[in-house]
Amino acid sequence: MSYPVMEHFYTLQGEGAHSGRAAYFIRLGGCDVGCVWCDVKESWPIDAHPLMTVNEIVAAAAAYPGRIAVITGGEPAMHNLEPLTKGLKAAGFQIHIETSGTRLLTGAIDWVTLSPKKFKAPLPAVLPYASELKVVIFHPSDFDWAEQHAAMTSPDCRLYLQPEWSKHEKLTPLILDYIHQHPQWTLSLQTHKYLNIP
Ligand code: SF4
Repeated sequence: MSYPVMEHFYTLQGEGAHSGRAAYFIRLGGCDVGCVWCDVKESWPIDAHPLMTVNEIVAAAAAYPGRIAVITGGEPAMHNLEPLTKGLKAAGFQIHIETSGTRLLTGAIDWVTLSPKKFKAPLPAVLPYASELKVVIFHPSDFDWAEQHAAMTSPDCRLYLQPEWSKHEKLTPLILDYIHQHPQWTLSLQTHKYLNIP
């Protein structure tokens, strides 16, 4: 089994509950969500990336000491993740996925970061599987939209609000005010961008 891999690298998770932890990122090609502010538009075509076998991906990840693998994209749920997660599990990895929730999830996944997008709604059936809901705030009206999706998650889902990077100086103060009034939410910053690491 092979997957189109746009890039793969060892770094720190920059966002959400696992921010600051060492992790191997596997960015799979293919996305049909179409976010206007997407910062990885090169990932969108599914067939524009070199194919790697499960063994090749696992060997690359296992060369480093960290044992968190983050499967991201693109929209990684476009792929059947059973073989990849099976291979990573066998090598001792805790498996995280970053998804828009627009496809049903496959494979053995330990942590689901679900970031809903206005450009293509997440499936209601996927939202209860979110370990963390990460809503990117692009406009002040997005707070209501964030609440609508939070209401569809499980009671123990962690809730994060994250400013869209190109507007973060303007939006972060609004998010701080919102969290003061709605303390069930937590601020997520793209710390890797502040640190200028991948
Ligand atoms: S879901 Fe992610 S990869 Fe796809 S367009 Fe949106 S931000 Fe980009």
